Amino acid sequence: MRAPIQERWEVSVRGIVQGVGFRPFVYALARRHGLAGLVRNDAEGVHVEVEGDAERLDLFLRGIEEEAPPLAVVEAVSWRPLAALGERVFRIEESREGSQRRALISPDVATCEDCLREVFDPVDRRHRYPFTNCTNCGPRFTITRAVPYDRATTTMSSFEMCPDCQREYDDPADRRFHAQPNACPVCGPSVRLLDRFGHTLQAKPDDPILRAARMLRGRAVVAVKGLGGYHLACDPFDEKAVRTLRGRKVRQDKPFAIMARDLAQVRGICHITNAEEALLTSPAHPIVLLERRENTGVAEAVAPRQNTLGVMLAYTPLHHLLLRDAGIPLVMTSGNNSDEPIAYRDEEAFAQLWEIADYYLVHDREIHMRCDDTVIRTSGSRSYPVRRSRGFAPAPLRLAADFTRHTLACGGELKNTFCLAKDRHAFMSHHIGDMENYETLRSFREGIEHYCRLFDVSPELVAYDLHPEYLSTKYAGELEETGLPAVGIQHHQAHIASCLADNEHPAEERVIGVAFDGTGYGTDGAVWGGEFFEGSLERGFTRRAHLEYTLLPGGSAAIRQPWRMAIAQLVRLYGEEETLKLPLNAVRAAGERNVRLVARLVEHEFNTPPTSSAGRLFDSVAALAGVPGSSRTTYEGQAAVELELIAAGPTNRAYPVRLRSEGATWIVETHEIIAAVLEDLRSVRPAPEISATFHRTMAETVVATCEKIRESDTVNTVALSGGTFQNMLLLDQTTKLLEEKQFMVLAHQRVPTNDGGLSLGQAILADRVQRRRQQEET
Ligand SMILES: [Zn+2]
Ligand SMILES: [Zn+2]
Repeated sequence: MRAPIQERWEVSVRGIVQGVGFRPFVYALARRHGLAGLVRNDAEGVHVEVEGDAERLDLFLRGIEEEAPPLAVVEAVSWRPLAALGERVFRIEESREGSQRRALISPDVATCEDCLREVFDPVDRRHRYPFTNCTNCGPRFTITRAVPYDRATTTMSSFEMCPDCQREYDDPADRRFHAQPNACPVCGPSVRLLDRFGHTLQAKPDDPILRAARMLRGRAVVAVKGLGGYHLACDPFDEKAVRTLRGRKVRQDKPFAIMARDLAQVRGICHITNAEEALLTSPAHPIVLLERRENTGVAEAVAPRQNTLGVMLAYTPLHHLLLRDAGIPLVMTSGNNSDEPIAYRDEEAFAQLWEIADYYLVHDREIHMRCDDTVIRTSGSRSYPVRRSRGFAPAPLRLAADFTRHTLACGGELKNTFCLAKDRHAFMSHHIGDMENYETLRSFREGIEHYCRLFDVSPELVAYDLHPEYLSTKYAGELEETGLPAVGIQHHQAHIASCLADNEHPAEERVIGVAFDGTGYGTDGAVWGGEFFEGSLERGFTRRAHLEYTLLPGGSAAIRQPWRMAIAQLVRLYGEEETLKLPLNAVRAAGERNVRLVARLVEHEFNTPPTSSAGRLFDSVAALAGVPGSSRTTYEGQAAVELELIAAGPTNRAYPVRLRSEGATWIVETHEIIAAVLEDLRSVRPAPEISATFHRTMAETVVATCEKIRESDTVNTVALSGGTFQNMLLLDQTTKLLEEKQFMVLAHQRVPTNDGGLSLGQAILADRVQRRRQQEET
């Protein structure tokens, strides 16, 4: 019998294949099939050479695609034949830096069951060790300084492994084989508890985590250094502790998140569906907005007036230990001072938080990249990202078509993210924050530079929002001055493009895009926000309808004080004197002086631009209905959120929806809606019913307008985007009514519908615009 002919193949694997146990998997797979050769990480992913007979090589190749480890994302496998070398063994080789850096860095992963078992096993050498991790879990993105992903390029480089850890690291059969952040109490990072002046509170053998847990049970606010930054923790059942934290953080109403040890603890305070349970326990361990239970003892100040709580499960061993020791769930809110970005460097944390935290639970593993917690909400079986960050960034989004050039999109102003795109990948950044101060701008700049290095992107095109005052737009302007081509993208068109990319919608297929949000710069100088477009990613979009223009009295002051919108509407409908006589709480609350002030602004149109914003229409109705946030908002969209909260559930009752045409554009006559709300108020209809009727009206408005556009433009797909569609009552009703009229509906699923998703749409549209420009030139 003749031995089968030996062949040798070179196999390249691309995708998220580093730091996820891919090489040991390849090693085990090759050995199982009796193949010789080698595997190593390179800058493009994983490089394999295998030698054996053709049949086994085939099985091996199939195994790579079908049996890859759970955290790996295999995007492409290519192979080519090499000359056989007659090798007998399979080995794992050291990394080699290549000319191109294409390897994808994994997001951070919540602690796995195996590691947790060790942490809570009294005889394990990692008993109570807060930095336990393995190839299936632990920090990745937040500790990575450069590629290829290796210990030397992470913030673990300063910790030399002890012989025991090194043995695990070198053993292909071990769960910690090449686990770059591998560590133990002998050789790895450690925690300390400090007072607010930075003095270490105790040395060994005292346990700083246990002591911090006791402080938390004694009403203290503790700053906890986690994976992507600092959290501020306190006892969620202690009204006084929560109020103290709110007061010091200067955060009035915006809800705090809660961290729980396990699902049982979550069930103690919230109702959870199967879909929500799956999200909570997924590798990212995001914050999920859950329906809160009544009378659980959770302090009202945790989430004032909300019927949901943002809850996440512990995602590092440090969190698990702290929660176990505390015996209760804990408030875990971003460690920042009002609107600054989350603190992640130790000096920064002390500077920012010293008036907020009583104690600091810190450690000496440096965080290289700040990364906030991800927030997701669900409706039925669907989930909607509110903030896409830890556990998701920097994993790329696969798109339906290739980019023709490396593109940087700078995003918007609030909830900023940026996006780098090349080939078929869009790398959307973690949550950068509201670009309103120097700190956030710095974080934005550093983030862009870091992503460019990590993913080997050198921007050849930059996309920005049309608003000239956005800091992100100004940054794009700086790049343009260096000679980089730049394309401005209208805010709401970017929203629609983002929704289409999110759904991998084909570039040439036309849609009706409905963008409802707070504020965006329009091409006619007005503030847009209730827009209907027709078009495609390929051709771009045309505005086909919008909410009627009303006036935004005092510009941004009207956004902070929603009652101004309501008064402006009333003054317009009834005149100044009649408005003052209206028997309405909104008028009484504003007072004569303010009514007259708004009337003057409206009369002279001083700092009072026209707006078609859906968010502001929600504000007007919220103010008329008298929700608390309408006097002065303390977070974005508060009045609208509160209007949704009081709604008496879905209803079939609606106010009249009227459209008029102005040339080729349809105008939704929103003053009719306001007048109808007023009639309801006069007949003393309760606010919850008014809210429900208004929501139904807005859903019917979308359907009526889309039907008009469908008649003339023969388009049947509707893409819904913009921050207003975070309103689940609106989104659910709109989707249902559209589907009843045989529309095909696209909503967001991978990126946020709010301004956090803008950068993706900007990148795609800018690339298309630049393509058309070049075609026209040639
Ligand atoms: Zn693990
Ligand atoms: Zn060790």
